[in-house]
Amino acid sequence: METKVLKIALDNLSQYEEELELAAACIREGGLVAFPTETVYGLGGDGLLKEASKKIYAAKGRPSDNPLIIHISDFDDVYKLASEVPDNAKKLMKAFWPGPVTLIFKKSDIVPYETTGGLDTVAIRFPIHPIARELIRRSGRYIAAPSANRSGRPSPTRAEHVVEDLSGNVDVIIDGGAVDIGLESTIIDMTADVPTILRPGFVTDDMIREVLGNVIYDPAILAKGIDEHMVAKAPGMKYKHYAPKAPLTIIEGDSEEVLSSFDRMIKDDRSKGLKVGAIVTDNIIDKIDADSVISLGDRDDYKAVSHNLFASLRQMDTDGVDVIYSVSFSDKALGMAIMNRLLKAAGYKVHHSS
Ligand code: AMP
Ligand code: MG
Repeated sequence: METKVLKIALDNLSQYEEELELAAACIREGGLVAFPTETVYGLGGDGLLKEASKKIYAAKGRPSDNPLIIHISDFDDVYKLASEVPDNAKKLMKAFWPGPVTLIFKKSDIVPYETTGGLDTVAIRFPIHPIARELIRRSGRYIAAPSANRSGRPSPTRAEHVVEDLSGNVDVIIDGGAVDIGLESTIIDMTADVPTILRPGFVTDDMIREVLGNVIYDPAILAKGIDEHMVAKAPGMKYKHYAPKAPLTIIEGDSEEVLSSFDRMIKDDRSKGLKVGAIVTDNIIDKIDADSVISLGDRDDYKAVSHNLFASLRQMDTDGVDVIYSVSFSDKALGMAIMNRLLKAAGYKVHHSS
């Protein structure tokens, strides 16, 4: 299949009628369109059309039991896709939609099991990104869209990442430039007794608590996986997520010790003839001597770190390193989402410096 890449400048959408119409028509005809959202690029198809969902799974190489998120462009759409909308969900919708929050509801009959991975629940998000909203609105459909990467790879934060992974497997890629947040949406299960965060994101547990009073984390998120001396036990941990091609190890500890760990491990690997990559922050970049060194930004600027994380992992692939070391972050506020992705990218491999 030939993939069309359509460039659209965000600041003047009205100039791109033709491109937007072409992409919307493609969705209506059952095709696949990758498009930017405020979180990461999504791979979209008609969420109520079984065949379109099947195409999404095939293009990504995604296991068919991993459900898709349906994207909407109007609050009322929720009542068509969900069979029950609890009051506390309405509060979250009011507070965070449109925006980077996905809510899980009991599904209505119109939502096919092909989209929900066989579940009786449906994940719904109302994005704020102008191109995403316009594409959904114009298509007149609900758009099922997981991240637009090959399964297991870091999520795409630029159109070039989508081209890398999916060119030839999708009809259209809308290039709307780099996304804003860079990490996927916060997912909250509203069907549980107490609303439960299934994936941390830009909207943090404290922000949700301000609206609802109570929210809990799914235990799998809090279990920080395993360190390098342990073997994976929990079922979800055996799957690769967000992984660069080279093995990644997170280096934890106080700053001086972290530096000497980086130094020692890089020297060690280089003496074996390996090409080493280091993912660090501005404060130590001048002190690291590796074959490829990338900074995620200011150590305290978690928005910058989120924005740069997935692109940095992909850059390591481009640079062709054999092994990667990364700094660690606290799991306060947005740090929770950053560490969740980083730990998965590393397959939970953490080196404790001390
Ligand atoms: P992605 O868009 O690639 O980040 O993938 C969508 C995420 O939403 C996956 O982690 C899914 O497991 C999750 N998800 C989608 N629908 C549901 C659902 N009904 N229940 C629980 N998780 C879901
Ligand atoms: Mg994904």
